Formats: sequence, structure tokens, C-alpha cells
Amino acid sequence: MEHFDVVIVGAGLAGLQCARLLAKEGVRVCLADRKRSPAESVHTTGIFVRRSLEDFDLPEDCLGQAVRHVTLYSPARRSLMLESTHDEFRIGRMGKLYMRYLDECVADGARWLPYVRYAGCESDQLGSIVRFESGQNSLSVSARYVVGADGARSSVARDLCLDQNSEWIVGVEDVFRNVPLEGEPRFHCFLDPGLAPGYLAWIVQDGEEVHVGVGGYAERFSPQAALEEFRIEAARFVDLSKGERVERRGGRIPVGGILERIANERGLLVGDAAGAVSPLTAGGLDPCLRLSSYAAHTIIESLSTENPSLMGNYNGNLFRSRFVSRIWMRRLMSWMGSAAMIEAGCAVARLPIFKSLAWHVFFGRGSFPDIEQKVAPALSPRVTTAI
Ligand SMILES: Cc1cc2nc3c(=O)[nH]c(=O)nc-3n(C[C@H](O)[C@H](O)[C@H](O)COP(=O)(O)OP(=O)(O)OC[C@H]3O[C@@H](n4cnc5c(N)ncnc54)[C@H](O)[C@@H]3O)c2cc1C
Repeated sequence: MEHFDVVIVGAGLAGLQCARLLAKEGVRVCLADRKRSPAESVHTTGIFVRRSLEDFDLPEDCLGQAVRHVTLYSPARRSLMLESTHDEFRIGRMGKLYMRYLDECVADGARWLPYVRYAGCESDQLGSIVRFESGQNSLSVSARYVVGADGARSSVARDLCLDQNSEWIVGVEDVFRNVPLEGEPRFHCFLDPGLAPGYLAWIVQDGEEVHVGVGGYAERFSPQAALEEFRIEAARFVDLSKGERVERRGGRIPVGGILERIANERGLLVGDAAGAVSPLTAGGLDPCLRLSSYAAHTIIESLSTENPSLMGNYNGNLFRSRFVSRIWMRRLMSWMGSAAMIEAGCAVARLPIFKSLAWHVFFGRGSFPDIEQKVAPALSPRVTTAI
């Protein structure tokens, strides 16, 4: 049986980021996914916030034009326009980005196992035996550490006896190409409890792509029906008739805040599997990049010192206190069920004194807590800057 230092289950952004940092440092990594290619069935809109754009070397050709304008609409469609002097958002070309990162992993020696479904892992004297299935075939590999990067409903979390997500919203969106851009790239956000209970409906356009989507608590709406309804309204904001629908994307987003027990002596969790998503904005890409960098650092330290107890340093409680205000704001959003209540909240947000709060939610730099330098001293200069 082949032995690896680390087996990573899941080649989304979190798994890829962790794999490429480990492979670059010479760690023997196996990266596995149930998809044939990470570019298949992308489920995210892919909006990167300024903090990620500044702190991580995202390849320029994998990003759309910058978005500096946001319009927030109340249920009655009263608007609040927000503008930044900075490039606040860019829509990632996620399939291309995932493939770029996968190529880097493979070039640095990582083993890529596509089209295999994780089927479980058991502890053994070298760490764990990880089992995969592909059709009628099965395959086992041995690993010192297992990384669960398998998304919001992580089976690895369950098998390693770590914490699991329990609060979700769901999102679904259509992606269009060749829609003419009138004016500047813009992010339109709609607070509407009918279309998007507990979250937002959105249209984001960067001149090349338009994403039209809805998100909310699954038990309170039918996402597909809400999206069909919202697409009709979206045509008032962007001329979709000239464009071509190229994809439908969607999935669960954990919004309960980062989990507490995300590592033990057998492995750890990253990305959605660790609940590393802003409970307020439901943004998970910046947390993927940051937490996976810290995970790679922790694993390298544990491997180089042969001290598995160092894995205990990777602990959700380091970050959880910084999530408290966002968790409470999420509860408030979830509780504000009626259109009249949200309308009143939006009227308040339009007052100059409260406009800065809305500005802060969209343009602030609070997507994921900073991981202090003292927590993560030098791994490599690039990674440390990113952390
Ligand atoms: C509709 C939608 C829009 C979003 N938009 C944004 C946005 O614009 N900006 C933002 O910051 N965040 C956004 N998010 C959140 C963000 O996309 C996620 O937080 C992030 O993509 C999570 O990445 P991940 O690598 O942890 O998980 P995933 O991307 O879910 O990757 C998990 C991988 O594990 C694989 N896998 C799962 N189970 C198994 C198994 N048993 N065996 C083998 N492989 C397995 C899957 O195939 C997948 O490739 C959005 C989420 C949704 C659903």
C-alpha cells in the first residue's frame, strides 16, 4: 500500500491551497476528489474580496474585472448605492484557477487521484488507512495525516470524530456570458425574504460574466423556483436576452461559524468542512485560503518535529471569538423574517449615520480573522504574508 505524509480529500479551493503549499515544501501529498476534474461542477460564484486579492498571489488571468460599486435593494426595491475607491471584488474564473492550482500541485510532486469517492478511514500505527471507491474498484492508501477538504457535509470530519457543521443556507445561481456591460461592473444585492429568506439575491456583472443567484434557509423557500422568478426581475438590471446561460451552480453554505474541534492527532479540517465561512456574508473563499495556509503550516511543523500533538494548535477556538458578532448578525438576519421589518432596517441603513455600517459589511476587511504572526511564524515568506 502506498504511504503518504498527507492525504487530502477534496480538491476545491481549500484542498488545492493546502496541497500546493505542502507539495511545494516537499511533503508527500495525495489529493483525491470524486470529480474527474476540479473544474467540473463548480458550485461557487467565485467572488474574491479585496483582502484575498491583496494578500494572495491569485493569477491575474483567473480573475474578472474589478467591481467597486454595490447597490443594496430593500424588499420594496429602494436602493442604497455604495462605492469604494478600491477594487473591492473580482469574480474568479474558478475552473481555470482550480486547474492552475492542480497543475502546480502535480508539478511539485503531489499524487492526483481523480474520480474516487472517499469511503472511510481507520486508524493504524502509521496514522490512517484511507479508503476510496471508484465504480466497482476500491483503493486504499496510508497517510500520516488526513485532511478533510470535502466541503460542508464532511465525511472526513465524522470519521476523524471532529466537529461537523449543523447550520446551512443554500445558494443557486445561473452564469451568463456575453451580456453587454452598461456602466461600471456592479454587485446588486437584494434583501427580500420571499426570494432569499435569511440571505440575499444577487446579480454581479464584471463585463465578461453575469451571475444571477438566490440564497437562503432551505426550509423556507424553493431555491430553484425563487431563481426562476428572480431571473425575470434581473432582466430589468442586466440585458440577459443578449447573453447565453452557460452554467447553473449551487450548493450548501455552512453559516454556524468556524467549528471548535477541527484537528486531532490523525488529521484536520479546512474550508467548508471546518465551517470556515463568514456567518454574515457567507463568503468562504478568503477563509479557505487563510485556514488552508495555516493548516499546511501546522502539518509541516508536526511532520518535521515528529510531534503529532502540535496538531492541537490548529483549533477553531483561536478564531471563534472573532466570529461572535457575525454569528449574532446572522441570527438577526434569520430572525428578520418579514418584508416590513427588513424594509425598516434598510430605511435605517440609508441614514447617513448608518450608511457606514452597510459600507463596512460590504467593503470591510473582516471576512476571516487574521492569524497572528505569533501563531504562525515563518513557513515561507509568501505563505506568511498570506496568513
Ligand atoms: C452558490 C454559492 C455561491 C458562493 N459564492 C461565494 C462567493 O462569491 N465568494 C465567497 O467567498 N464564497 C462563496 N461561496 C462559498 C464558497 O464557495 C465556499 O466556502 C468554498 O468554495 C468552499 O471550498 P471548499 O474547498 O471548502 O469546498 P468545496 O468547494 O465544496 O470542495 C469540496 C470538494 O470535495 C469533494 N468531495 C466531497 N465529498 C467527497 C467524497 N466523499 N470523496 C471525494 N471527494 C469529495 C467535492 O467534489 C469537492 O471538489 C458560495 C457558495 C455557494 C454554494
